[in-house]
Amino acid sequence: MKKVMLTGDRPTGRLHVGHYVGSLRRRVELQNTGDFDDIFIMIADAQALTDNADNPEKVRQNIIEVALDYMACGLDPEKSTLFIQSQVPELTELSFYYMNLVTVSRLQRNPTVKNEIKMRNFEASIPVGFFTYPISQAADITAFKATVVPVGEDQLPMLEQTKEIVHKFNSVYGDTLIDPKILLPENEACLRLPGIDGKAKMSKSLGNCIYLSEESEDIKKKVFSMFTDPNHIRVEDPGSLEGNTVFTYLDAFCKPEYFAEFLPEYQNLDELKAHYQRGGLGDMKVKRFLNNVLQAELEPIRNRRKELQKDIPAIYEILKKGSEKAEAVAAQTLKEVKDAMKINYFDDKALIEAQAERFSK
Ligand code: ATP
Ligand code: MG
Repeated sequence: MKKVMLTGDRPTGRLHVGHYVGSLRRRVELQNTGDFDDIFIMIADAQALTDNADNPEKVRQNIIEVALDYMACGLDPEKSTLFIQSQVPELTELSFYYMNLVTVSRLQRNPTVKNEIKMRNFEASIPVGFFTYPISQAADITAFKATVVPVGEDQLPMLEQTKEIVHKFNSVYGDTLIDPKILLPENEACLRLPGIDGKAKMSKSLGNCIYLSEESEDIKKKVFSMFTDPNHIRVEDPGSLEGNTVFTYLDAFCKPEYFAEFLPEYQNLDELKAHYQRGGLGDMKVKRFLNNVLQAELEPIRNRRKELQKDIPAIYEILKKGSEKAEAVAAQTLKEVKDAMKINYFDDKALIEAQAERFSK
């Protein structure tokens, strides 16, 4: 079986460090292993419209931002197909058929969607498109016959929904769709990176982000405003790591070599944590270290992005070519789906003959 990766992001803002550790960093690593027969990276504009129907300009403006972030992080259009969801209309058609395989109560049980409905104040009236976006995500994943989907933890319910649709479809219409495997980050801190406020997950829609394209000064300001342990008032007080965002970020980003470079009095993160817990280590020192780590991680990304920004038409051209390739692949799957469902009346000579025979009697 071919090895195919598919994943994507909603163009609702620039990408942030949560996207990076949750999915983007892994995609680039997987891309560069050369192990995949095909890699599809989707800018999910149609999905973004399900909760931004009154603000299509926001979605339109952010497509290029996401594409720049992708390439700045190392997604390479020579190795990965970068495309825009709405430019592949086959995805909508697949969603329409999959809708018949899912119940309203099943969609209502999806914990991520439940949470997002609350966050968006949709409780009183949910747009139907938003409510059903897990079905459209199943279309995205299956259209490309994805075997691997690297995503953050919030996407787990979507992958479960996709698997159910695949099983249902294959059992009703015969083996057609591929069952995908979800690839969550191995590092626990990366499953759902919190925002700088320490509350909910870092999310474009919540304004608690450090963006990948953030300028150096702004990264510093955000790091120094970050939530730590509210009871760690004096340096000598013992500090807690529980819910301490600065340490969560260090868990997500710190590499051993950063100690030698920026904080040589400690060997590793465990030593730093132990000192914090016993008391005698101030928040400022930890924040200075985190700032150095994030600056080292983000500087090359920001610089590559600035280079890429010099030729914007070229990026649109890459997305156009990618969308054309993606459409060809999705069209083939759609044909297989319709054949399996026997929605292929005009190609089915036997059907036409049998009907003719029936009415000739
Ligand atoms: P929105 O608020 O518009 O939904 P978002 O910030 O949640 O935006 P998405 O485009 O929905 O971003 O998510 C894209 C990918 O990034 C998904 O794989 C998701 O799991 C992952 N992701 C998003 N936020 C985080 C986070 N804070 N930590 C880890 N992974 C994340
Ligand atoms: Mg999201």
